[in-house]
Amino acid sequence: MIELNNVSKWYNDYQVLKDCTLTVERGEIVVICGPSGSGKSTLIKTVNALEPFQEGSIRVHGMEVGAPDTDLPALRARVGMVFQSFELFPHMTILQNVMIGQRVVLSRSSSDAEAQARRLLDRVGMADHAHKYPAQLSGGQQQRVAIARALAMDPMAILFDEPTSALDPEMVSEVLDVMTSLAKEGMTMMVVTHEMGFARRVATRMVFIDRGEIIENCPTEEFFGGTRNPRTEAFLGKIL
Ligand code: ATP
Ligand code: MG
Repeated sequence: MIELNNVSKWYNDYQVLKDCTLTVERGEIVVICGPSGSGKSTLIKTVNALEPFQEGSIRVHGMEVGAPDTDLPALRARVGMVFQSFELFPHMTILQNVMIGQRVVLSRSSSDAEAQARRLLDRVGMADHAHKYPAQLSGGQQQRVAIARALAMDPMAILFDEPTSALDPEMVSEVLDVMTSLAKEGMTMMVVTHEMGFARRVATRMVFIDRGEIIENCPTEEFFGGTRNPRTEAFLGKIL
């Protein structure tokens, strides 16, 4: 359902992605890890066309990403994204934040959008905060709202880019718990994270990327139990 084939990308003459091939099947949870600057954010941003790429192909649920006629709003509605820094609209209430994409991109009626927003805010434990503004919430609460906002579009998959790395330690688990419950319900997810406990429990597949190259791409048990590439070993030695 998400298929990257031999994707390469350059920033001027600096090659940031090198021949990356990766398939994420429906219901899979793929965790991507790797050193800072290795291209993790760039890789997942190519999937919903937030970053262009020069070589290779990406298909998402039958849509060819990067083709001149790709319907970008449709693509981004199908593939939600949750960033490190929550990126909620500061001038809108929590409820409005979760409604806006449904109204503008999916043309849902106000009452349908509100019903969906309230249902999802309830599901991430934020129903009581619907009338507040982002600045009035903790980081963990804002991130749960960002997840509700992505879910409100009924996406086929959600991309997460270090969703807990900007959070105080005590808030990390409240966000990982929401992500774990999504995974259990069969949501397809690509997750850049260094939370290896979460990865071990939830991921179906692990990817390790170094200097723009996919070095490891294997089932989770194999990644944590088997023999690894020395570059993977060196990286895990630093973070575990
Ligand atoms: P981190 O763990 O720090 O978030 P990352 O693995 O997500 O790192 P990327 O943000 O994808 O890494 O960046 C990969 C490389 O591309 C880095 O060397 C970075 O400096 C470079 N890069 C990123 N964005 C740009 C840009 N807009 N122009 C030029 N180079 C860039
Ligand atoms: Mg990054």
